[in-house]
Amino acid sequence: MNVLFPGQVIGILGSGQLGRMLAYEARRLGYGVRVYSPERNTPTGAVSDVETVGDWDDRERVEAFASGCDVITYEFENVPTETADLCAKHCPVHPGPHVLQVAQDRLREKQAAARLGCSVADFRSVESSADLEAAIRDLGAGVLKTARSGYDGKGQQSVEPSDDPSRVWQRTGGVRCVYERRVPFDAEVSVVVARSALGRTVTYPVIRNVHRNRVLDVSVCPAGLGPKVEEAARRTAVGMAEGLDVVGVVCVEMFVVGEEVLMNEVAPRPHNSGHWSLDAADVSQFEMQLRAVCGLPLVEPQLRAPCAMANLLGEIWLESGPNGPRWDAVLSRPRTRLHLYGKTDPRPLRKMGHVTVWAEDTAEAERQVLDARTSLLGSP
Ligand code: AMP
Repeated sequence: MNVLFPGQVIGILGSGQLGRMLAYEARRLGYGVRVYSPERNTPTGAVSDVETVGDWDDRERVEAFASGCDVITYEFENVPTETADLCAKHCPVHPGPHVLQVAQDRLREKQAAARLGCSVADFRSVESSADLEAAIRDLGAGVLKTARSGYDGKGQQSVEPSDDPSRVWQRTGGVRCVYERRVPFDAEVSVVVARSALGRTVTYPVIRNVHRNRVLDVSVCPAGLGPKVEEAARRTAVGMAEGLDVVGVVCVEMFVVGEEVLMNEVAPRPHNSGHWSLDAADVSQFEMQLRAVCGLPLVEPQLRAPCAMANLLGEIWLESGPNGPRWDAVLSRPRTRLHLYGKTDPRPLRKMGHVTVWAEDTAEAERQVLDARTSLLGSP
């Protein structure tokens, strides 16, 4: 693999906050940044050298974008594989389009995990109301997830055995789904892995995640779940990165049940649960993505201090007073960093920013980050 040094141009497919944080790190290291997506005035576009707005299937525009890049990566995995294939005619695309094909489809993802020897929650492929009825009979209470286009809990329904399968199926709009047994998990964790073209992998410490309304709410690192569980989580994540032949960064989300680790989801890019790495690690997940796709050295990332990250969703803006969130209340705290994504249209559950705190231990970091977030609403 060619090594791409500073001065060369990184292309990003997708233009949200993950691309924005990658672009910051790329610029810090002296790379040029171009971004492509169908949206205008985006978080990534605002900090890139060139923002190309075009549909994913606008071949001419995609090719013009790709011909101006030295390597292309993603910040969003639902880019059509045809678009990634077209880009690959002009420059390397990492992770390869074959990884998108798996990560875009929950059924393929689970089948790949099972093939690679990773445990997953029992699941069934569902393509009709009758399939769903049989799946509920087999697996009991569970979660019905659309196979494609699902993220942040979109396209998911919690199902009880007493529910009417045909009604639940109707609500999906009749699209292909996966039905998963409901997992009585003790914790949710994730591991961010970077893998080079030569097959070297490095991993961040295991992260413990708390979701609210199926959207990530708080992450703490290290997870503090003991060496046995954490080793199993790392092994699962590295196994997925190697088995899928990822070049770049991949985040694997898992459920922990007792000492067992079940693979839930793979994101072939940096992940919300690794945002703390910008402030509390020597090399952030975004710099690591850059290093992996440019063929630069991967170093085993070191945690500077135990830390916690809390997401700032649109509700914070909608629930704070007429002058908006009290940024001063967060900015006046030590060992606390505020990140805002430059989005101007707050909506419920929309990720608008995050706060990271580092402390002597994760319990203290978590306490402080929750306190910091609450302080944005001002005094009651
Ligand atoms: P996902 O989009 O698959 O990451 O799901 C979002 C969140 O919904 C997860 O992080 C869990 O909190 C919850 N969830 C998803 N699938 C299951 C399951 N099979 N059992 C229990 N909770 C689940």
